[in-house]
Amino acid sequence: MRALVKTDRGPGHLEVREVPIPQPRPDEVLIRVHACGICGSDLKIQDDQHPYSPPVVIGHEFAGEIAGVGADVAGWVLGDRVVSEQHTGACGRCRQCLTGNAFACASKRAPGYWVDGGFAEFIRVPAWLLHRIPDSLSFIEAAFTEPSAVAVHGVLERIGIAPEDVVLVLGCGPIGLVAARMAQVAGASRVIITGTDRDEKARLPKARELGIDQVVNVERDDLAVLVADLTGGEGADVVIELSGAPAAVAQCFRLARRLGRVGIIGQPPTDEIAIPYREALFRALAVSFSYSSKYTSWERALSLFARGAVIPSQFVTHVLPLREWKQGFDFSRSGDAVKVVLEPSQEGV
Ligand SMILES: [Zn+2]
Ligand SMILES: [Zn+2]
Repeated sequence: MRALVKTDRGPGHLEVREVPIPQPRPDEVLIRVHACGICGSDLKIQDDQHPYSPPVVIGHEFAGEIAGVGADVAGWVLGDRVVSEQHTGACGRCRQCLTGNAFACASKRAPGYWVDGGFAEFIRVPAWLLHRIPDSLSFIEAAFTEPSAVAVHGVLERIGIAPEDVVLVLGCGPIGLVAARMAQVAGASRVIITGTDRDEKARLPKARELGIDQVVNVERDDLAVLVADLTGGEGADVVIELSGAPAAVAQCFRLARRLGRVGIIGQPPTDEIAIPYREALFRALAVSFSYSSKYTSWERALSLFARGAVIPSQFVTHVLPLREWKQGFDFSRSGDAVKVVLEPSQEGV
């Protein structure tokens, strides 16, 4: 089968190769991948700025149909349409696993980074990680479940949005956009989302199209003044950091109101970032870091899709066959696209 493989360490070393079709173990299923989204972390792997273990098939935002079932798997049959959580290798016995937080298991080896991922015609995954795709969704729409589950987890499950909250989302990548939409669905009184000049091409216009209340280009408008104006000088009830920009991380703590909540989901390029520590302390901010997602996040994301509260097709701007992966990566990197989805099974085996 054909697969997009990160063949070695260092920048680049990414190519479509012929690799063997994986054989599912007794507790696994084989999935024929119909759609797999390009994520910011795929670009980071391409640049050698994200942990991974080469050679590895990358891609983790996949959707497909079951094409093989391991001997010990119950409840799933050939042809079932599925998406899958990312917790391959989770031990099932540690405190994180036993409390429903397998995403944080130390033994986890996520597909697309540590074990072969979804930019391939087939992938094998443990059956306990599967979720059924609602009939109303296409595979392309379903491939948006993973980034949406990350938003559900970080915004709805870790921070929590209450009616009346003023919610500020910093960053308008796919997760920022869907997080802003979810905050509206959850009853926020006003949702503000930010971007920069490069986001004027696709992402800020998309935010306006989605009906986000306030769409701000921070290179043109003074965000601090705008937030103060909108909140009577108090600050936002909730600030969600999804830009990964160190300056935005520091700014989060100044834009939240006293006793406000700050959610950090964006991934900055460096480990150490200066923050206004005492300001955060004397505002008694609740700060929550979040990455990945859990069972409930996936069921909630799929429920929001099925209900039409979040419409995944609105976020997918480009669909390409696997062989045009390079163009897809370039679209993602340039900000010309919101979400790019590749179709690995498009041209047959
Ligand atoms: Zn992703
Ligand atoms: Zn574990």
